[in-house]
Amino acid sequence: MKGHAEIAGGGIAGLSSATMLARQGWTVRVHERSAEIRELGAGIFIKNNAIEVLEAIGVFDRLSAHGLRLDRAQLLDHQGRVMQERSLRDRSRVYIFLRQRLVEALRDAAEQAGVEIVTGSTAVAADPKGELQLENGRRLRADIVIVADGAQSKIRAGLGIDAEHRLLPTLVSRYLLPSLGKSVEPVTSEHWSHRYTIGITPCADDLTYVYQVCPEWDRAASVLPSDPALWSKAFPQLEQTIGMMSQSAAIQHNYSFVRCRTWHRGRVAIVGDAGHALPPTLGQGVGLALMNGYALATVLGLHRATEDALPVWEVAVRLVSDRTQRWAMRYDYFARQWPGSLWFLRPAILWAFRSVPALNKRMRIADQGLMATLAKVRAS
Ligand code: FAD
Repeated sequence: MKGHAEIAGGGIAGLSSATMLARQGWTVRVHERSAEIRELGAGIFIKNNAIEVLEAIGVFDRLSAHGLRLDRAQLLDHQGRVMQERSLRDRSRVYIFLRQRLVEALRDAAEQAGVEIVTGSTAVAADPKGELQLENGRRLRADIVIVADGAQSKIRAGLGIDAEHRLLPTLVSRYLLPSLGKSVEPVTSEHWSHRYTIGITPCADDLTYVYQVCPEWDRAASVLPSDPALWSKAFPQLEQTIGMMSQSAAIQHNYSFVRCRTWHRGRVAIVGDAGHALPPTLGQGVGLALMNGYALATVLGLHRATEDALPVWEVAVRLVSDRTQRWAMRYDYFARQWPGSLWFLRPAILWAFRSVPALNKRMRIADQGLMATLAKVRAS
């Protein structure tokens, strides 16, 4: 089918779904409450499954020039000893971008596909009969309404589906620092010390993306600007970076978790973080949003009525999202809440995550990528 779509939210999920539908001949309007399409929050890792979708919608060629392809991922202990190292080749390929670059590329692609983007437009409710209601009182009819207003979605609650949204007790502070010179090697490194994590990755434009993670209850570690003495004690080999962090602006968030009993009702579908926000421990928030959006557009193309397409779509994509979310939660628990008396087991468990195929395959199920998802869509 082809028809008209109204989309609430001009983030990664909303813009990408809009482009995919518009390319299939739909008329599409995106409502973004902010005055412009923009993204806060430093860098973003884009993994192979997300890249496949960006390639399929013709965004990746232009975008890749603004990012950095990473060669290796390292996990190190507090003394800088490598606990795990992974090559990022073939189906494991990973790029890093500035978030703003990614969202601008998606905005440009949406506009080129004919999507109408209305900024300063806040949606307040969605009616399963196919209507999006705006704050200014307008009610817009549509063949599909897509709810893509992020983890804190207000519209989700009004749909009457059973949904849980929690802020998790993990705080992340993100920085963009001037290039750290010696780390221009395309390697992403994550350093673990007790319950703390520091991730360092060279990014584009001579910048380095750094994130710092700690449990929320640890007030001394979570205060901003960060305490260089406390963090240098935990990571002595990162003293220089930590000094720069303590003098730089950071964006701080809790990790979010969203679980919905269902992602559709009547003519309304929920995509992206609004439906399945997860800790970024596996770097799959964007991958799931893009794969699920692509699958949604594909399923709609195969059915005559939205109400018939949406249950098929959810059955096809749900397992990968649910499993990825569960593993992202486990990984955060393992890094932040694992009992101190069992820390000595962490290297062995990390080894098992990577090397025991049954575990690794489950944890990285989203890495199977777009083709596996589309095969399920076509088979449903
Ligand atoms: P959002 O990005 O939240 O976009 C929602 C949009 O809707 C916003 O523009 C908002 O202004 C708008 N909006 C909200 N309410 C309304 C309304 N009522 N009406 C109209 N518009 C509205 N994922 C990765 O793949 N790789 C990573 O490296 C990665 N790192 C992360 C690091 C951190 C610290 C966090 C918190 C997340 C990370 N993620 C990562 C996850 C990723 O950022 C999200 O999965 C992704 O941004 C979700 O996009 P979205 O469009 O669903 O939601």
